[in-house]
Amino acid sequence: MIEPVAAQSLGSWLKEADRCVRIWEDRWGDFEIHPSLRVDHQALGQAYEEYLNRLTDNYPFFHPRYAGQMLKPPHPVAILGYVTAMRINPNNHALDGGPATADMEKEVIVKISRMLEFSDSALGHLTTSGTIANLEALFVSREEHPEKAIAVSREAHYTHARMGHVLGVPMEKVETDSEGRMDLNALEDLLQDSKVGTVVLTAGTTSLGAVDPMDEAIPLCRRYGARVHVDAAYGGFFRLLIHSEIIDAEVSKNLDAIKEADSVALDPHKHGLQPYGCGCIVYQDREVGRHYFHESPYTYFSSNDLHLGEISLECSRAGAAAGALWLTLECLPLLADTGLGPVLASCLEAAQRWHVALEDTPLKSWKKPDLDIVGYFPDTGSSTASGIDQASQALFERSMASTENPIFLSTLRVQSSDLQERMPSVEIDQKEVRILRSVLMRPEQADYAEALVASLVGFLEVDV
Ligand SMILES: *Cc1c(COP(=O)(O)O)cnc(C)c1O
Repeated sequence: MIEPVAAQSLGSWLKEADRCVRIWEDRWGDFEIHPSLRVDHQALGQAYEEYLNRLTDNYPFFHPRYAGQMLKPPHPVAILGYVTAMRINPNNHALDGGPATADMEKEVIVKISRMLEFSDSALGHLTTSGTIANLEALFVSREEHPEKAIAVSREAHYTHARMGHVLGVPMEKVETDSEGRMDLNALEDLLQDSKVGTVVLTAGTTSLGAVDPMDEAIPLCRRYGARVHVDAAYGGFFRLLIHSEIIDAEVSKNLDAIKEADSVALDPHKHGLQPYGCGCIVYQDREVGRHYFHESPYTYFSSNDLHLGEISLECSRAGAAAGALWLTLECLPLLADTGLGPVLASCLEAAQRWHVALEDTPLKSWKKPDLDIVGYFPDTGSSTASGIDQASQALFERSMASTENPIFLSTLRVQSSDLQERMPSVEIDQKEVRILRSVLMRPEQADYAEALVASLVGFLEVDV
């Protein structure tokens, strides 16, 4: 049905998508849109103009200058995949809602399971977000260990505590070291009193991309009979690089150990090049599917095969999200040396170069980055925590406000005692202190790291 297209731009592929979906639509015979759905083109033109203008009120998420939060536009292939399926709008809840994209979802789950070195019999599905993926894992944990608590580290994503509240499960906090990784002595103390049924480990914390010491933590949890869920929403895809030189050996070992977990949550809408609306949960043991069992009077009719809604807590989900991920992984497969691997390797390189470029500047790196997020603080003469806090905020504001040379950053609150480990002379006059944080998830940023750091240092010198 689809002829190959010579043109390269996304615009012409989108036109092609429209043409092909129309051909498919025409197969079903004459059809006219109801008059009530027609819009006045002039009114649309005006509204659209306003829409476009309003959308300019955004930060340039695509650009190397944007080194703020975890976001960037999806890959053009993902946009093409999404928009094409969205024209049809399948719902991946049930096979009745869209058999093609449901099959694609099952195929991408197999690919992701293999990346995790889970068996092909692993059970998984896409979700709307990492939060929902984690909620599902915590729900299964509660069903498996009904009377027990769930332990998360101090640096785990804040939604774990909220979801524990939603599920009515007591949550225990585990201390971290000053680099943001779970403290295993603290974990063992907690496991010893046997109230904990599940431990959540994080592969890439949201604050600074720290990877928990999974290699030791997982056997420790096993000794005490605890389940292990890995929140790899941010860092899961970096598992592709565990045999590569670019990644720190210790971090590789810990990402490698993810294969021993009971469940893993990932966010294709972070490092999988997808638009928002694409999280993922995978379970090692298919049998946990029984916890999802429910009856639905209006779905699951067209096939006796597994309907994705039978193994997920959500009902409607965009088939387009599965289609977009499927198409993306056809073009950028989950491999180390080609496909997604080199994209992620460049992001790691960007963070490592940023970390090195900070040496011999008044900006001090918080730690050697595990992944592609760097933390740093201005050491420009202030001897108090509050002074460092204000200097961070001032640099943040100046750099964001620059009209000629803006660099978009984020700030992060850390404990002043952790700052003191790096700056023994600092006087702790407040409990927490803001530092700067840069998420370098654009592969292009590798070649900009030194220039961007030099610009930031320039913003500092305005004060001197
Ligand atoms: C982003 C993130 C989440 C939350 O995922 P959403 O897709 O934003 O709901 C959870 N855990 C970690 C480690 C994350 O980075």
